[in-house]
Amino acid sequence: MKRHYVLIAALALAACSTQPPAAPPAPEAPIDIGILWVEYSAEYQAITAQVYADAREDLPRLLADTSFSALPGQSDAADKPPAIILDVDETVVSNAEYQETLRHTPYSRFGHFDWMRNNPAVPVRGANALIEAAKAAGVEVFFLTNRACEPFEGVDGDCPYEQVTIDDLREVGIETDAERLLMAWEQPGWSKEKRHRRDYIGQTHRVIGLYGDDYGDFVHCTRAKPLAPCTEPATRASRHAALDTYADYWGNGWYILPNPMHGSWTSVR
Ligand SMILES: [Mg+2]
Repeated sequence: MKRHYVLIAALALAACSTQPPAAPPAPEAPIDIGILWVEYSAEYQAITAQVYADAREDLPRLLADTSFSALPGQSDAADKPPAIILDVDETVVSNAEYQETLRHTPYSRFGHFDWMRNNPAVPVRGANALIEAAKAAGVEVFFLTNRACEPFEGVDGDCPYEQVTIDDLREVGIETDAERLLMAWEQPGWSKEKRHRRDYIGQTHRVIGLYGDDYGDFVHCTRAKPLAPCTEPATRASRHAALDTYADYWGNGWYILPNPMHGSWTSVR
């Protein structure tokens, strides 16, 4: 009998040595307070409503003043048709719910695409009213996003994010098309540095408004990793210096939305 217990104990020990107990599941990281603020606070929505209300109020004045352009250096545009340029994520579509998923799934461009194609888009309060006012006043509306034009394995087409983005905009009540949606890598030279695409629109239109959540939606060379034509990494100091350089534009053709969740600001030092 005793020998029997010894055998059972030995077998139990052997089992222990080959099958260590599973580690307890790692606790999920707490949700970032910035994500909580965007997703749940009334304050966030009040700010975006306020920014877009100011933008809407300014629109007739900027439209009437044909000497004005929201593109620094654009001085030959008085006779060009007017246009505005909006970013997409955190400007007209909120990503807060997707950002929450990054607690347990690392960011990837495919992951972002996959979330957006499978979930209804969430509007940023106030954007629709501005866009409707612009369209009613005969202003062309362009969307300039760093969502990338690239193929994904197992997904049809060379640029599947384009239609998904058009669908996202439709889900928040905005009609647009591929001609008015300028994605990263869609044309040679269209990197995530948005200056090329702003200048491209400026060739044919007088740009009277820029709307975005990232400094790079307004100012060029704001990224830690410089992309042509920028040669130097942006720094916190260089970004702050640009506040003075472009002081006349903030709230006067340039309208920035809050985003404490992600952006080019996070990687500069
Ligand atoms: Mg954005």
